[in-house]
Amino acid sequence: MTPTRAGPGANDLSPSSPGGGGLSAFFAELDPAIVAVDRVQAALHAFDATNEFHFPAAVVRPRNGDEIRMVVAAAAVHRVPLFPRGAGTGFSGGSVPSAGGVVLDLLALNRILDLDEQEMTVLVEPGVITGYLQQYVERRGLYYPPDPASLKTCTIGGNVAENAGGPHCLKYGVTRDYVLALSGFTGTGAPFTAGKGILKNRAGYDLRHLLIGSEGTLAVFSSILLRLIPKPETRILFAAFFNDLDAATEMVGTLLRRGLMPSSLEFMDDRTLAAVEQHARLGLPIDAQALLLIEVDGRADEMPRLRGLVEDCLVGVAREVRYATTAAAQDSLWEIRRRASPAMRAYGNRKANEDISVPRRHVPAVMRGLKAIAHKHALNIINFGHIGDGNIHVNIMFNGDDSKECARVKLAIVEVFALANRFGGAISGEHGIGLAKKPYLAGNLDPVSYELMRRIKRVFDPHGILNPGKMLIFPEDSPDTLSGGAKHPREGADA
Ligand SMILES: Cc1cc2nc3c(=O)[nH]c(=O)nc-3n(C[C@H](O)[C@H](O)[C@H](O)COP(=O)(O)OP(=O)(O)OC[C@H]3O[C@@H](n4cnc5c(N)ncnc54)[C@H](O)[C@@H]3O)c2cc1C
Repeated sequence: MTPTRAGPGANDLSPSSPGGGGLSAFFAELDPAIVAVDRVQAALHAFDATNEFHFPAAVVRPRNGDEIRMVVAAAAVHRVPLFPRGAGTGFSGGSVPSAGGVVLDLLALNRILDLDEQEMTVLVEPGVITGYLQQYVERRGLYYPPDPASLKTCTIGGNVAENAGGPHCLKYGVTRDYVLALSGFTGTGAPFTAGKGILKNRAGYDLRHLLIGSEGTLAVFSSILLRLIPKPETRILFAAFFNDLDAATEMVGTLLRRGLMPSSLEFMDDRTLAAVEQHARLGLPIDAQALLLIEVDGRADEMPRLRGLVEDCLVGVAREVRYATTAAAQDSLWEIRRRASPAMRAYGNRKANEDISVPRRHVPAVMRGLKAIAHKHALNIINFGHIGDGNIHVNIMFNGDDSKECARVKLAIVEVFALANRFGGAISGEHGIGLAKKPYLAGNLDPVSYELMRRIKRVFDPHGILNPGKMLIFPEDSPDTLSGGAKHPREGADA
């Protein structure tokens, strides 16, 4: 890529800041081959899965760690806002260049640098696609479990920055549980490595865990050392349909108390089921109130016992149970879950996509609360998610052309977050804060924690160039940024 002409937003930068010179001085320090300022590149990097749209002034695509360092250091000197970006599949506006500035596209750093089968670790660059990494290690009998539904497109760097989860995280943990070490650059371009290639490490504060989930606001990652585990031999998948929502949500505790740790425990409510059946005709009982997809995995010789245990828990509680032992049959049962998002379009042309997380014991009450919010505001709220983790994807489907309905959606979102708060939950389980949930974060944390986060941001990024305007609100922020940038109820792609 070579610079052609300035894109929209190029004038957003103040050349009078310390270092002076603004964008042109910044570009002068970089290899022109990694800089693009044309409209097409700007448009391609202007949004993520939230459909927030902000043009950057330019896109910079470093090809190695040294180029990342040069870009960040030059941005710090010339006070150029930098927006780190993986695949742009985020659900919270994390990679969106909301303050003009420059997108730091990390997709070109896409190499698997080293697989150590003895230590069971893999060293990767941040732009490696998650699904590709999984296949790569599985071919060698190893397993990297974190599996966001976006795994065919999202990157490991984005996963670390969002601490991404997925269906297999109940048993195996989220991205955080697999990061042994992170190398990268702070907001001044200072290089660091947080963590080492060892399983136990009590040497100092654990900066690695501070950086995981930092959403590109504290540092840019240039390489990541991941832990791997042995690949499970085999799996069984159950689809259990229930006449009663509470019976389904209470089944989670029943399974765990019987000593079972399902590798997946996914939930869909009655409206999701009805929509999927209407959309895909999979032969689902449309009068059922809930579905649980329960997967157990392990050694082949353990399977008969695990299957018996699951069936014992379900008998007399579920109205119908289907199960699949072959990969092909499991794939068609997973199709029920995969069809959920496209099917939902029957309920509206726009989606507000929330992902609250609550203690598992409160899931039944929270589900009832969500139904009450839907009823109160006459809205289609469709729920599914990783119920084993207490992580509920709350999808408000609405007509984006109906201003009254849009106003009701805004009120409902506030009530959904209040519900999560009331039950000791978080306003995001895995999608992050970014732009979308920024106005609500302070209400979900105690004031001291929030202030400590602001101070941490200033320590890592003293000039405020890394993903400015994301996650936290500062007293000096302009009123424009306080809304989180959202002019309309948020909408998102399909999860
Ligand atoms: C269809 C669909 C399904 C999804 N399903 C799930 C799911 O099951 N679970 C889940 O957790 N999420 C899910 N997501 C959300 C999203 O895929 C994840 O948040 C993912 O981790 C984002 O990765 P990305 O490469 O697209 O990052 P981006 O969207 O490009 O960026 C995300 C954040 O990471 C930062 N970042 C990116 N790379 C770096 C880096 N190298 N250094 C520092 N910061 C960086 C960005 O600044 C931004 O704040 C889904 C999204 C879609 C569209």
